[in-house]
Amino acid sequence: MAQNFLKPITACLGQPVAENPTQVMIEAAYMQLGIDWRYITLEVAPENLADAVKGARAMGFAGFNCTIPHKVAVIDHLDGLGESASVIQAVNCVVRRGVQLIGENTDGKGFLEGVRKRRNPSGQHVVMLGAGGAARAIAVELALAGIRKLTIVNRSGERGLGLLNLLENAQLQLEVELVVLDGSYTVPSDADIVINATSIGLFPDVDARLPLDLSQIAATTLVADVVFNPAETHLIKDAHAMGCEAIDGLEMLVGQGVIGVEYWCGQTPDPEVMRRSLEEVFGIGSGSER
Ligand code: NDP
Repeated sequence: MAQNFLKPITACLGQPVAENPTQVMIEAAYMQLGIDWRYITLEVAPENLADAVKGARAMGFAGFNCTIPHKVAVIDHLDGLGESASVIQAVNCVVRRGVQLIGENTDGKGFLEGVRKRRNPSGQHVVMLGAGGAARAIAVELALAGIRKLTIVNRSGERGLGLLNLLENAQLQLEVELVVLDGSYTVPSDADIVINATSIGLFPDVDARLPLDLSQIAATTLVADVVFNPAETHLIKDAHAMGCEAIDGLEMLVGQGVIGVEYWCGQTPDPEVMRRSLEEVFGIGSGSER
């Protein structure tokens, strides 16, 4: 039988991208699925993004992730957007469908997967710290999933208002409240889900504390952090100490990776295998988190 040395290619485009661990997680998924696909990490400067997408198209990439600073700029070079990417106006996962390159946003979907494993988001009151890219993706996906109320807590009023307007303009059926931070915010006792969607606590500032007072929340409150390095942030530790269930940032990272692989290959990888590959990279368990 003739041999086939052509391997389906997927990639991550970003700058700086050298410390992005996605390749490890996706290649672990391909290996676990037993498929001979490749995932390559590519440093692409903003002025080269158009050529990079043209190249991906010409070379028949099955798809690629986009990270900082390309999540918004890439839209101009694509043929269409999925529903949430179109509301968020940011793309982190491009999928080749026929001859078209379609932009999807899997950040919020990956996060939502973690929530759904634990409870139905419909009708919940969510308090979310942050209004940047990750927060926007999470907010839109939670709104599409039918949460009742979203309290956005953000340091910059302008950015907070931007997210509030985005949700209102998309005519999503939920109550949205904006709290502009002035010192610390006391999370109300009726919060069902509390999320840190900021970079506070991200390596190397691992001891930075969130401007949130959690003393009023119930033990039934679900707590989540987008920060994945370290995976066990102060928020995650505090949540566990209060008897709350918690979703760490690694779970979101793996969740969006699972959806990306499904989009590209049509197969569902084992999230545990993907998580373990990341834990190895971050030295979790050996006490050498970086
Ligand atoms: P952005 O720069 O778009 O947004 C940053 C957010 O954090 C803003 O709301 C900003 O507030 C807030 N913030 C940052 N520092 C402070 C501070 N000292 N005090 C108060 N607020 C602060 O970043 P992203 O949304 O893209 O990323 C946020 C985090 O999410 C990062 O750590 C990233 O690694 C993580 N992430 C994790 C993913 C996962 O899969 N687990 C996926 C995507 C992102 P302000 O508006 O006032 O500046």
